[in-house]
Amino acid sequence: LDNEAFRAHAHQLVDWMADYLETIEERPVRSRVAPGEIAGALPPAAPGKPEDFAAIFRDFEQQIVPGLTHWQHPSFFAYFPANSSPPSVLAEMLTATVAQVAMIWQTSPAATELEQVVLDWLRQMIGLPDGFTGVIQDTASTATLAAMIAARERASDSLVNDLGFRAAPRLTVYCSAEAHSSVEKDVRIAGFGRSNLRLIDSDDAFAMRPDLLASAIEADIAAGARPAIVVATLGTTAAGGFDSLRAVGELCARHGIWLHVDAAWAGSALILPEQRWMLDGIEFVDSFVFNPHKWLLTNFDCTALYVRDTDQFVDCFAIDAAYLRTREGDRVTNYRDWGIQLGRRFRALKLWFVLRSYGLEGLQAIIRRHVALAGKIAGEIAREPGFEILAPARLALFVFRLHPPGLDDEARLDRLNEQLLEALNDSGQAYFTQARAKGRYGIRFSVGQTATEDRHVEEAWALIRETAGPLIAEAEA
Ligand code: PLP
Repeated sequence: LDNEAFRAHAHQLVDWMADYLETIEERPVRSRVAPGEIAGALPPAAPGKPEDFAAIFRDFEQQIVPGLTHWQHPSFFAYFPANSSPPSVLAEMLTATVAQVAMIWQTSPAATELEQVVLDWLRQMIGLPDGFTGVIQDTASTATLAAMIAARERASDSLVNDLGFRAAPRLTVYCSAEAHSSVEKDVRIAGFGRSNLRLIDSDDAFAMRPDLLASAIEADIAAGARPAIVVATLGTTAAGGFDSLRAVGELCARHGIWLHVDAAWAGSALILPEQRWMLDGIEFVDSFVFNPHKWLLTNFDCTALYVRDTDQFVDCFAIDAAYLRTREGDRVTNYRDWGIQLGRRFRALKLWFVLRSYGLEGLQAIIRRHVALAGKIAGEIAREPGFEILAPARLALFVFRLHPPGLDDEARLDRLNEQLLEALNDSGQAYFTQARAKGRYGIRFSVGQTATEDRHVEEAWALIRETAGPLIAEAEA
């Protein structure tokens, strides 16, 4: 493509992008393709000769778009949101064009310094105290892994990095049984070993029980292990539970354990002063992660990791290679030393565009709207005979199930709700995912897409009632 052709196609694509967003509601939320269908339609090897852009774009529309699940659809209530926004998309276009590799200050002074500034704006917006310094990571999974590695080195006096695990004491890790699966994955990758991960039971509100955490820590110490890190969750994935940072933090402080907070989803809601209750106990926290790519209108991927002891953190990752040295030396921040990646994308740009385009107040209005919508619809479902709330609305998430009167066999209820979920998703009109709340199968209702309004939530509730009708009749027959 020469520059003139690039310009023409770029205009064409922008039109397609605006049309896509304008008409997204006409598309089925979840892709309807069968496994293998997309791959089967594509040639088995790359073309030998250059192809026309027009042909590539035609195949994008015909072969790729049907295989998209439309995350930006306002009736997307599955998983957690991965909401984007026009300013974020525009910034992503610029990011791709200037194609920075933000590994060293010198390889992109703008990417480095904008990241420093924007992450401090964000820190203030979510009410994290002074003393936390931020860095962008690709995902919460990676950020938690980085925190675990730092905690591992602190607990082992850097022995693991220097000599390997055999030289270190046995190190243990704690989180609630409700914690995200990434915690267990990170435990395995960081080398702690799955058998050294303690999953602590939660209470009726899905919060980690500090009494059980205390007993587990004491038992491990008595057995000669060294507790390295506790991962507390603000906003658990299945049911929206919140661990008490104060109760967990006091234990961590008593035993010198690193406290990492996974607020991947709920962290964005901290821009609302009325939701800052979840930060009670933040003084005990060593590291804190949340995902602007979930609920802060910033395209995936963009994770904010905040660390208190940055010297110790950077020590774990810093590598001195002759070809990476620059004349600025220690006078600048080199983000290559702040995590696992060497090369890094220029992610701060989209965050900057979003924060400036909406302003704090604009973002607050959107998240407040989501929280209010979820609370309202959860209330309606709770009042509807034949339905039951398994996890009450916390922020913008709740879990419900169909529970016809007289049908109390748990296995049959599970099956009925699985059928309901599949029928809802097959309709193409909305998309939900499932969770187990205290062992019971339920449907998660997670509100948070940028364009989701009252009518989308009301229509989803009408769809649920309509779809449930025949299933209830069948169950009663
Ligand atoms: N932690 C929690 C609580 C989550 O809900 C999720 C994803 O939904 C993650 C971590 C993982 O996020 P990521 O995809 O950024 O690794």
